[in-house]
Amino acid sequence: ESFVDMNVHAQIQQDIVHKGYDKPTPIQAQGTPVALSGRDILGCAETGSGKTAAFAIPMIQHCLESPPLRRGDGPMGLILAPTRELAQQIEREVRDFTRTSSKEVRSTIVVGGTNMGEQRGDLRSGVEIVVATPGRFIDHLRQDNTKLNRVSFVVLDEADRMLDMGFEEQIREVMRSLPEDHQTLLFSATMPVEIEALAGDYLNKPVRVKV
Ligand code: AMP
Repeated sequence: ESFVDMNVHAQIQQDIVHKGYDKPTPIQAQGTPVALSGRDILGCAETGSGKTAAFAIPMIQHCLESPPLRRGDGPMGLILAPTRELAQQIEREVRDFTRTSSKEVRSTIVVGGTNMGEQRGDLRSGVEIVVATPGRFIDHLRQDNTKLNRVSFVVLDEADRMLDMGFEEQIREVMRSLPEDHQTLLFSATMPVEIEALAGDYLNKPVRVKV
């Protein structure tokens, strides 16, 4: 199945063509249509599989189809990742797929080791998608620099690594504070009991995708 057959929004299609992704990878072929249908996903996939586009495309589409942000609203899409480097890679990919819709779907990155004030400015100006490491994201929530009031699409990327790095409590704090109506995609390279437990607590009848 191609991205066209998946009914990906025309604006995103243009960006996919521009990026040169002719054919979906297995995780994209299996995961993207499921995510576009609104279902939760428990995905077993490693870096290099193309998982970033598999979740970024449905998140962007979700933003394009949601009522616009109002002044003071937090993001619609939240992506949590274990490291600054991974968060940067993800945000670059989000930007690549929002070339055509950069006015409607704005994104920013929120990671440790960088200027808190600059990030606060970006968050407060209104962004549809935030890519963050859990610790720094919680810092911004505590300082009221952002809110969870509009979050309706969440991705936990490399969840096993986030747990290894000690982020479990921060992830749980975010997940239990979300608005009721939201879709969650959890990706992990391995599926230890701790990940199954996290999925059991926060995913709603997830479709399991393994590549
Ligand atoms: P990821 O696993 O998301 O980090 O992606 C791994 C690499 O594969 C990145 O360099 C992507 O740009 C590339 N990639 C992802 N999906 C596709 C695709 N459908 N066609 C060609 N390259 C892709």
